[in-house]
Amino acid sequence: MSLDLIVTNATLPDGRTGQDIAVANGRITAIEPGITSEAAQRIDAGGQLVAPPFVDCHFHMDATLSLGLPRLNQSGTLLEGIALWGELKPTLTHEAVIERALRYCDLAVSQGLLAVRSHVDICDDRLLAVEALLEVKAKVKPYLDLQLVAFPQDGYYRSPTAASNLERALDMGVDVVGGIPHFERTMEDGTASVKALCAIAAKRGLMIDLHCDESDDPHSRHIETLAAETHRLGLGRRAAGSHLTSMHSMDSYYVSKLLPLILESGMFAIANPLINITLQGRHDTYPKRRGLMRIPEMRALGIPVALGQDCVMDPWYGLGGADMLDVAHMAVHAVPMTSREAIRWAFEAVTTVPAAVMGLEDYGLAKGCHADFVILQAADTIEAVRIRPTRLFVVRRGKVVSQTPARRSTLELPGRPASLDPASYAPKAAG
Ligand SMILES: [Zn+2]
Repeated sequence: MSLDLIVTNATLPDGRTGQDIAVANGRITAIEPGITSEAAQRIDAGGQLVAPPFVDCHFHMDATLSLGLPRLNQSGTLLEGIALWGELKPTLTHEAVIERALRYCDLAVSQGLLAVRSHVDICDDRLLAVEALLEVKAKVKPYLDLQLVAFPQDGYYRSPTAASNLERALDMGVDVVGGIPHFERTMEDGTASVKALCAIAAKRGLMIDLHCDESDDPHSRHIETLAAETHRLGLGRRAAGSHLTSMHSMDSYYVSKLLPLILESGMFAIANPLINITLQGRHDTYPKRRGLMRIPEMRALGIPVALGQDCVMDPWYGLGGADMLDVAHMAVHAVPMTSREAIRWAFEAVTTVPAAVMGLEDYGLAKGCHADFVILQAADTIEAVRIRPTRLFVVRRGKVVSQTPARRSTLELPGRPASLDPASYAPKAAG
C-alpha cells in the first residue's frame, strides 16, 4: 500500500525515540522504527517531539477576541466580566460572532489546537450566538472539532427564559448541558439548578459540564451536589465540573470527604489556571489566595483533571493566544507542582485528558487513530511545557494544515556560537 505521509525520527510523548509514523487515508497505519514504504510526503521530525493535537475542553468562543467591546474590565473580577458581557450581548451580530470565531480557529490550528469545547451563552432569546457557533462548528469541521455547551451565563433560574432557551439550544444541536450554580440567587437555587441540569443530561443522554463554584466562597459547595447527582444518575465520565475554585478556600476536613465523592462519581474536573489565577482572590488584601482546585490531591486520589484555557481576549481575560502550553505552564506555577512527573502530567492535561472529557473518538498516537498530530520544536513533553515551542507542522487527517519555521536566533557575540536553537537546551541530566 502506498502511504500518504511518513514522519520519520519522531520522539513520542511516552519517551520512545526514533519512531516513524505512517499515514494512509487520514489514519495512522503504523508507528515503529525504520518504515521503508513509499509515501507521497515525508517529514523528518529530526528527533523532536510529535504529539497528538492539543485539546481545549473549556472555552468561550462566542466572546473571544472581543476585548475592549464595549469597554475594558476595570476590577478584573468574574462579576464585572459577566456584567460587561451583558452590555456587549445585545450588540452582537451573527456575522461578527462568526468572523471572530473563525479567526480564533485559525490561530488555534496554527498552535496545534484541533479540538475545542466551547460554552455558548443561551441567555439571549435570539439565540444568536448559538446559531452562529453551530454554523462555525460545521465550517471548521474539516480541521477542528468544535463541541458546544448550552451555557446559561445569567443563571438557569436567575435569567427568566434560560430554562426554555437551554432546551431550544439542545434541540438545535448543541452537544452538552451547561450551568452556573454559584451565580443563581441563592445556594438553594444553585443546588436546584444542578439537579435540574443533571436530569436534563440524563434524560437526553448528553454530557454535562457545569461552571461550578467559580468563587472564593468556601461555602460554595455545588460540586458536592454535582458529584452526588452524577453518581445517582450514572452520568460518570459524561459529567465534568469546571473551575471548582472554591475548593481552594474550603476547610480541609470537608475536602477530605468531598474528593472521594468526586472520585466515586467518575466525573472529570476541569481547571482553568490562566483565568482563575487572575480572577480569584480579588477581594483579598494580603495574603491573596490563588483560587485553583486542589489538583495534586485530586490526582493522587485518581480523579481525572484536565486543564482548559477558558478565555482569550474577552471581558474576563485580556491575554491568551490559543496556546495550551501556556495553560500547562501556568498550572505548573500556580498550583505549584514542579516535579518532573507533574510537568509531564501537565502536558497530558492539555492533550489526552481533555480528549477524554470531550469523548473524542480515535484520538491519539496509535495505529488506527486519526492522523492528527503536531511536530514541536522541543525534545520532549517537559521541554514543551518549559519553552512553549514553535509548532513546526500541524497535521489533520494526514494533511499538513499549518507550518511554522523553526525558531533560530543568529548571534553576534565574540567567541560564542553564531546561531542558537532554543530546543537545544534540553537538560541531559534531569531525566
Ligand atoms: Zn468558562
